[in-house]
Amino acid sequence: MTTTDVDVAANLATVRARIEAAAAEAGRDPAGVTLIAVGKAQPLERLEAALAAGQRVFGENYVQEAAGRWPALRERYPDVAVHMIGALQTNKAKEAVALFDAIQTVDRPRLAAALAKEMARQQRQVAVFVQVNTGEEPQKAGVMPAEADAFIAACRSEHALRVDGLMAIPPADEDIALHTAFLAKLAARNGLEKLSIGMSDDYEAAIRFGATHVRVGSAIFGARPRRDA
Ligand SMILES: *Cc1c(COP(=O)(O)O)cnc(C)c1O
Repeated sequence: MTTTDVDVAANLATVRARIEAAAAEAGRDPAGVTLIAVGKAQPLERLEAALAAGQRVFGENYVQEAAGRWPALRERYPDVAVHMIGALQTNKAKEAVALFDAIQTVDRPRLAAALAKEMARQQRQVAVFVQVNTGEEPQKAGVMPAEADAFIAACRSEHALRVDGLMAIPPADEDIALHTAFLAKLAARNGLEKLSIGMSDDYEAAIRFGATHVRVGSAIFGARPRRDA
């Protein structure tokens, strides 16, 4: 199969139009919203279709999967930016620093320290987002809201990380507006401008409440095929 069964270019155009409309409705400049195309578990040809359609910012959830595709794709598209949006194990810090332009899932001191050490060793500055568990769900990653200010401060002062923003994956059954507003407040009092929140089902609402980075997968690439297929 040379072309994809999903019309990625058409889906991208739709998502971009909706982003512009949501931004306009909120009185925001659409240029202030970055669309991150989330390619996890998607066939390579769907990513290639997005690249061909001009998409340049991507999100990946797994170090191994990203390592298998982005070094080659970067040779053809040197201007891509790849954000790590999945859970990151400390022992993958070295590979992650080499692979990604931003790591959105920094949520614990050991990971912050490992990333800082690798950035110094590789002389490569990677943007960092602190992941906040805004829903306070015990099984989910992210620093708890009550500990977020102290953790952001420690990332900066103890690890000399350049913290660019905050990221959250709110509970699917809760109103995204509340989580986005909370994240925006936390960001403002810490001098952070980037808010990564909103997925296929709720990115427009997230934009209305201040999201600057929306992570959209299935609305662009279609349903994810089974990982073991
Ligand atoms: C998979 C994933 C997304 C995209 O989800 P869709 O519902 O397919 O848009 C966004 N953010 C994170 C952290 C994800 O793991």
